[in-house]
Amino acid sequence: MLVSAPPNVRYLSGFTGDNAVLLVLPGQAVLFTDPRYSIQAAQQVSCRVKICKGPLVEGVAAAVRKLGRVRIAYEPSRLTCAAFNALESRLPMKASLEPVQSLVEELRMVKSPSELALIRRSVFLNSRAFSLAVARVRPGMTERDLAAEIEYRMRRLGAEKPSFDTIVAAGRRSALPHAQPTTAPLRTGQLVVIDMGAFVDGYASDMTRMLFLGTPGARVKKVYAAVLEAQLAAIDAVRPGVFACKVDSAARRVLRAHGFERAFVHSTGHGLGLEIHEPPRLGKRDKTILQPGMAITVEPGVYLENFGGIRIEDTVEVTKTGCHILTPTPKDLRVI
Ligand code: ZN
Ligand code: ZN
Repeated sequence: MLVSAPPNVRYLSGFTGDNAVLLVLPGQAVLFTDPRYSIQAAQQVSCRVKICKGPLVEGVAAAVRKLGRVRIAYEPSRLTCAAFNALESRLPMKASLEPVQSLVEELRMVKSPSELALIRRSVFLNSRAFSLAVARVRPGMTERDLAAEIEYRMRRLGAEKPSFDTIVAAGRRSALPHAQPTTAPLRTGQLVVIDMGAFVDGYASDMTRMLFLGTPGARVKKVYAAVLEAQLAAIDAVRPGVFACKVDSAARRVLRAHGFERAFVHSTGHGLGLEIHEPPRLGKRDKTILQPGMAITVEPGVYLENFGGIRIEDTVEVTKTGCHILTPTPKDLRVI
């Protein structure tokens, strides 16, 4: 199998550089990378390393030519058309390429104890960064100021970088589930959504919390209570042996009862680990069976145009008996 997705290469070999492919053969593996990474590869990788001066696919093709008649699995969603064509054109006639979808991603769904320890560290660091940044929130600060403060705090606490572009969106813009922070100042009377995550030793965290500047009105409180109820119901549904879609339907059922089903425009959560979004997807149709050791997010939301959006997100670990909420940050609407 030719593994080309950097997180999959890292998972299987330990190599963290961004230009590498791993050829996994019966009984051995070979990592192909370029000369910039020769020292790093020697330090990180225990399998054979081949340093390629030209395109990596040339090195792979040369190695495959020595194997005789082979079928090589590749990752169709993780290999560019250009790399595929370059590889195919260099392979001998007796070698063939076969797409294999998400094989390594499926291995990655259930985390080892050491991976779970890193995810926990990442989640705790992220929550600490949230507390430090939120303590500095004042009306007049812009969305971008707050996003910068959050990312600065993460790095000062020891994170490598944010695990995705930090979302800070105030007022009506909070209704955009994936808003990018603007230069708009935060104002009294506004809801503010903060969705943030860090990478710590390669592992991601993910959390969403809501602030309110001033005194929230009845409608804000009502929507908040509905989202919180949905989030708690979804967490309650997380246990080994259930389909991922059951967690999603638990959240959706609560929001339907409150009349907000159509305002919940995404799935309830996702796996996380070496990537911020990994299988399983806690969506309407995902039939993945939850297993102990999975790390997933639970994040229902309600988005109302011209009003705003409310989302509450925790990272949880599936345990033998149910689940454990890793995120330590309180879930009440934080009034500032
Ligand atoms: Zn998030
Ligand atoms: Zn998320």
